[in-house]
Amino acid sequence: MNGSVRIARPFGIEVRVHATFPLLLLWVAVHAARAAGAQAALGSAAFVLGLFACVVLHELGHSRVAMAFGVPVRRITLYPIGGMAAMARIPRRPREELLMALAGPAVNAVIAAALWAARGWPDLARLEPFPASAGALLDMLLLGNVLLVAFNLLPAFPMDGGRVLRSLLAQVQPYGTATAYAAAVGQLMAVAFGVLGLRHGNPFLPVMAVVLVLVARREAAAARQREWIERRRPAERMRPLRPALAPEEPLSRCPALWQATGRADFPVLFEDRVVGLMPRERWQRALRRLGPEAPVGEAMERRFYAVPADEECTEQVAALLAAHQIPIPVVRDGQAVGVLIPDEREDAARPVAATGRWTLDLGPA
Ligand SMILES: [Zn+2]
Repeated sequence: MNGSVRIARPFGIEVRVHATFPLLLLWVAVHAARAAGAQAALGSAAFVLGLFACVVLHELGHSRVAMAFGVPVRRITLYPIGGMAAMARIPRRPREELLMALAGPAVNAVIAAALWAARGWPDLARLEPFPASAGALLDMLLLGNVLLVAFNLLPAFPMDGGRVLRSLLAQVQPYGTATAYAAAVGQLMAVAFGVLGLRHGNPFLPVMAVVLVLVARREAAAARQREWIERRRPAERMRPLRPALAPEEPLSRCPALWQATGRADFPVLFEDRVVGLMPRERWQRALRRLGPEAPVGEAMERRFYAVPADEECTEQVAALLAAHQIPIPVVRDGQAVGVLIPDEREDAARPVAATGRWTLDLGPA
């Protein structure tokens, strides 16, 4: 899939390596071999492999927390510039996104702390450019993990630090606005990475910059679309209250109403008040049990939710519609003014609205 190969399946999560990844190993090894010989080439390749093992653990940190919040994780893919975990979605509650974002860097902080405790802080002045011994390799992995923590916590959305920023902003602002700010900061930082990379002849930073800008723009657009869907008030989405049924009408009246309107769910009105609902499934059961001449009032659903017409259409309303599959009366001043019906077209639009579903982690190159 996407030119990548599966290498492992921890916790049921597929870990894949992109086809371009061996090129990074080769590039590093050749670079080291030309500078310092075969030993250096081996050591450098071992360092890259070790560092990317830490990136996998980092992604598993994000993934396990996401799974704890009920988010399925599709796969983890390693690219030469870093790792990506593909999730079904990003947890929508700011607190959950915050914990998910922090879990990755936390894993690297634990690895760095363990190496530090075991070996002490490395003498930076004596650090060799290519690890020639196991000790030097561990020292470089310690520093590599410190860099992974520091770099990924930069507030460059959609990197971890950017997600932390978005989730903190989302505590005090609408989600879409918080995302727009975080994405703007992210794009500024991406431009800074790009300029830095070009000035220092580092080919990885400009590539990262382009990836960051593209993903940040897409996430901001997705958040705006989602906010737009949720902001629409019930009054703007509702269907007319009529045609409707009356409690004394026979059950045999329903099919004609369905055919005439193309709708399958109707409110039952008594003196302009909604007294019940008659969803199609309930009608089928009632018809078998009571026969076609039984009054609608005897078979209708009497327990139902109602939502205010002019308040924002929240996620709870969307969840109600999805879970119950029966109309929800919309009320204004105690009077029913319309119904919200479960609508397949809007459900179909939801996955499009929720495209922001990557954690993007970049190795310090
Ligand atoms: Zn991360």
